[in-house]
Amino acid sequence: MCLVASCPCSIVISVPLSYFAGIGAASKAGVLIKGGKFVEALAKASCFAFDKTGTLTDNHISVKEIKSLSNYSEKEILQIAYSVEAHSAHPIAAAIRDYAKENHISKLELKDHAELSGSGVTASDGEHIYSVTKSAEYTATAVTKDGAVIGLISIAERPRPEAKDVLEKLRSLGVNQLVMLSGDKEAACQKVASELSITDIHAELLPEDKVRCVEDMIKANGSCCFVGDGINDAPVLTRSDCGIAMGLGSDAAIESADAVLSAQTLTALPRAIRICRKTMNTVRGNIAFSLIVKALVIILAAFGIAPLWLAVVSDTGVCLICVLNAVRLIKRKASLF
Ligand code: AMP
Repeated sequence: MCLVASCPCSIVISVPLSYFAGIGAASKAGVLIKGGKFVEALAKASCFAFDKTGTLTDNHISVKEIKSLSNYSEKEILQIAYSVEAHSAHPIAAAIRDYAKENHISKLELKDHAELSGSGVTASDGEHIYSVTKSAEYTATAVTKDGAVIGLISIAERPRPEAKDVLEKLRSLGVNQLVMLSGDKEAACQKVASELSITDIHAELLPEDKVRCVEDMIKANGSCCFVGDGINDAPVLTRSDCGIAMGLGSDAAIESADAVLSAQTLTALPRAIRICRKTMNTVRGNIAFSLIVKALVIILAAFGIAPLWLAVVSDTGVCLICVLNAVRLIKRKASLF
């Protein structure tokens, strides 16, 4: 009887099933989680770091103003920037391309297009090297020729419409540290952060600086999740306890991430945390229930007062109850989490 009662099948079956059900529930809610380990990380997350451009701000960033600082006309500055940004996946590049197309600007024949990790892009016409990059001197994006700034492009970006609400919900879930990590200038970060009531800002970071910041936060808080979308975010997505990529982010970000927001919005994030917490409660509940019932039956059996049917119930019955408890996670409507 002791042998029957001590069979661990209720735990062995229901624990992985709870994780599968939790991952299924999260995917119905719009977050694809790549493993049980990340369900745990999201459940206990008390610190979230966010990239700015394309993550806290929406994709509708646009060119606000073009200024020439050289003999080139504003139209020519735009044409150079358009041609240099021809292949970049960065949201600023997309905004410059859209603006150039709206203004019927033709593309120059440039070659040797290259990304400057976390700062911009370069290309050459065979004679000169042009770049579109963040500048140490100016807040606006600089267009340079052989290293000299020839023009400036001001970019307007606005927080995602849902960002403020999502951050509020995260705070109410006990996420007490919300941090912005950005490669952009301090002033641009401050503007977005103040609209979202984020006080912890780390600006002008290279991809490796973002990794260092997340490591510091892991040391201080015990864990840190990162949400980002860009190619430059891949290292920090890998380093954080749960790296979360925006669904329409760069391929590198999506591949490196531990979870992906399937829609291009942050809305599902608080719900995913609630689902992960519910999943962990289900796992713990099933383990505790199984152990308590089995311990009681084993004690009774040791004193010779447990009938055989009770030992069978404590094995098969408990296993069934635990399985049904796990399956409840996936049966529940996503909107109820
Ligand atoms: P990220 O952290 O990837 O957003 O990049 C940090 C900063 O580098 C951005 O805020 C821009 O100022 C600049 N940057 C990166 N890529 C580009 C690009 N393709 N064109 C213009 N600026 C860029």
